[in-house]
This record gives sequence, structure tokens and C-alpha cells, in this order.
Amino acid sequence: MKNIPVTEIIHHIETDTLHRFVFENTPVRGNLVNLTHTLQQALRLQKMPRGLRQGLGELMAASALLSATLKMNGSIVLQIQSKGALKLLVVECNAAFGIRATAKWSGDVQDEQNLFELIKDGQFIITLDPKNEGAEGSQAYQGIVPLEGDSISEVLENYMLRSEQIDTRIWLCCNGNSAAGMLLQKLPETMNQITHTHDLDTWNRVGHLASTITDEELLTLPAVTLLTRLFHEEDVRLFDASNTQFYCSCSRDSVANMLRMLGNKEISSIIEEQGKIEVNCDFCNTHYLFDKVDASALLMDETVLPGSKAVH
Ligand SMILES: [Zn+2]
Repeated sequence: MKNIPVTEIIHHIETDTLHRFVFENTPVRGNLVNLTHTLQQALRLQKMPRGLRQGLGELMAASALLSATLKMNGSIVLQIQSKGALKLLVVECNAAFGIRATAKWSGDVQDEQNLFELIKDGQFIITLDPKNEGAEGSQAYQGIVPLEGDSISEVLENYMLRSEQIDTRIWLCCNGNSAAGMLLQKLPETMNQITHTHDLDTWNRVGHLASTITDEELLTLPAVTLLTRLFHEEDVRLFDASNTQFYCSCSRDSVANMLRMLGNKEISSIIEEQGKIEVNCDFCNTHYLFDKVDASALLMDETVLPGSKAVH
């Protein structure tokens, strides 16, 4: 580091960051995100066709942008499900911008195939999980909408407008190694007619300015440079960045709980056939082995039946 000129450090892209910004005295706000190591770590053990990886990268960037706009102390899960060659894309982002992602597909998918060429009868599912059970208003929320649009940003913009009634513009891109995104949002309108017109003017103007952004700029420019270039006549306040990172929440306990949900009959039949239960986490590839004794313990934990100990 010590031989790099200061100017070069300042103008270097800040990878793995989430920046919030506001247009002063207006209801318009935004976020910028860059995922580089986060993306590479999350997908390092997952081999997937290039088009799918890019789609998943964009969805990861989107999850951080949306998580930053929803002030909740929990996780947001974005899923695209389809009956085409693509079966599932799933991304989870927690309140600390810990992100994990995975994809499932079938058949022969080519590198150059775009995500949307692989989707048939697709659904977009957003789940907000507050993670503090028992507190008031902390129930998980799930919204399911048909996939409308032919890009992830368009799908999300439609979702935000239809389901949340919030005007949102989203730009996303992923080159395979990095994913980046920008979100603009107009908070619900005020009742005052003069303010309302002013707000609408600002919203239209900054949206127009923002739409000149290129993928290259989004992927390579530091937040302050990018915002200055796009909105140099606007009064923009940029807040300190938060860091993003790869994070998988799987654990031996969570896998055990999932297995218990299969039920005693299913568990017994796997033990009988294989003498053990093996589970691989789709997100981080951690291998969980439950030998005969461990697996039998799962059975005993369910309902205490006098006969269940006979498995030993
Ligand atoms: Zn995991």
C-alpha cells in the first residue's frame, strides 16, 4: 500500500460496500452497492453457467439495496422460481449485509443464455423475516407476484410499485466477478400540493439523470465520483458505507431441525437404507453427517414414544 499515490487510493472503487444517500430536502433517497469478494465467496464452490451467475449476482446486489431501504432487524429473501430450465434462484441478505445465494437448474444450460431465456411461468417471491419471534409485528411477510419484465431490475420495480406502492428505480449489473447496483426511491407523497409538485419534479429529474448511468460506471466508480458525475447540480448527501460480506446461516442445529420436519418415518427409512444421513448446504457446501446414533437422536427428540429407543 505505501507506494500507491494517495490520489489513487481515493479514486479506487470501494468494493463490498453499501452506501446510502439522500437528495437534501426532498423525499428522494437512494443506495449504491458493490459486491466483489462477497459475490466471489458466495459462489466459489458453485459451478454454474455464466448467464445464471450474472443473474444471481444481480439478485444479490438487489437484496442488499432492498435490505437497506427496509429498516428491519432481520433477513430479506428474494427468490425466482420457474418451470423452465431455471428452477430456482435464491438470495438471502441479513441486516448486516451478510449475503448468501444459490441456483438450481436442469438440463443443458449454455453460458451465453440469459436468465430470462431459462424462465417459464416464473414467480418472484420476497420474504421478510424479522428474526425476533414473539415481538409485536414480527411475523414473517411473504409476497408472491408473477415475473413481469425481462430484467431483474424491472421485476423489482414492478413489485415495489404494485405491492409496496413505492416509486422505485433500480439499476443492476454483474460481470461475473463483481455485481453492482443503484436504487432510487421516492418516499410516500406529502399532502401539500406545492411540495408534492416539487417532489415529483425532483423525482423525474434525478430519475432522468440516473438513467444515463452505464454498467461500466456502476461497476468501477467509487460512490462519490459516481454521484458527482450523475447529479452534480443536485444537493446530495452521501452517508458512510456499510460493508457487505458472504454469510451462511446454516448450522448443525438448523439442519437437524430441517430433518426433524421430514418426520420419523422418513428419517427411519433413510437410516435403514444408508445407515446415516448426509446433508450438504446448497449455499456454502458445508457437509453435515448424522451417523446412525445422531440420526436416531433426531427421532427421539420428536415425540417421546416408548418404542423409539429401540432404534439403538
Ligand atoms: Zn451453509
